[in-house]
Amino acid sequence: MKKTIIANWKLNGNKKIITDFLLNVHRHLTKTELNSVNIVIAFPQIYLCLVKHIINDLDLNIHLCSQDVSYNSIGAFTGEVSIHMLKENFVKYVIVGHSERRNFHNENNNIILKKFIKVKESELIPILCVGENLKEKEMKQTELVLKQQITKILDELGNTAFDNTIIAYEPVWAIGTGKSASIEEVINIHKFIKKYIQYYTNNSIQSLSIYYGGSVNEKNIKMLSQQKDVDGLLVGNSSLNSEIFIKMIKNM
Ligand code: PGA
Repeated sequence: MKKTIIANWKLNGNKKIITDFLLNVHRHLTKTELNSVNIVIAFPQIYLCLVKHIINDLDLNIHLCSQDVSYNSIGAFTGEVSIHMLKENFVKYVIVGHSERRNFHNENNNIILKKFIKVKESELIPILCVGENLKEKEMKQTELVLKQQITKILDELGNTAFDNTIIAYEPVWAIGTGKSASIEEVINIHKFIKKYIQYYTNNSIQSLSIYYGGSVNEKNIKMLSQQKDVDGLLVGNSSLNSEIFIKMIKNM
């Protein structure tokens, strides 16, 4: 199976920067290189429609991802964007529960569950972000934290909760710090997540993908993407520069 790279641009970019980025990707990657990896881009939501047009014009095989979604569908919810709006704008993937949403917007496991359900119901692909912070890591609570984040969804949705979905292991201490988890840590945690879900669902889970995110860059991407337990990578900082992003795709 092709490995996936997701560029999470967070609150960065403008029309010109985004257009130039896509033009560079088009110019510097061959069709074969472009098709060897599943490329997913999470620009700020307001640019997704523009991006879809550029991607179509350039005939680029790139998929759109939203960085968040509302758990409400319609009505008086100022500032929110619904799953239907995302679907109408050709979004395929939705990130749910990124640690920056958990930390800066007080999203707890209950809110994240509601968002996850919205995405699943709409048949878009949820990317559930899970991960421990530094204090939890130091207190050896990583597995406990991950279990809590995942069990909330399993308890509500049952054995099929994670069918055809993605879990992104993103240790909070590795995000934006330049300090990625080691390959061993990544493999162990990915195995732990898979085993835990298999155990919980009596082995009935089908096609769950597990991605890693946290200071992925052009140097460590090769090693990470070669691991059979790593189905994809979620990249923040290093995805903002087209030259580095292109190098990363070539290195996968
Ligand atoms: P980073 O961000 O690559 O800058 O560490 C990753 C993420 O937040 O998904």
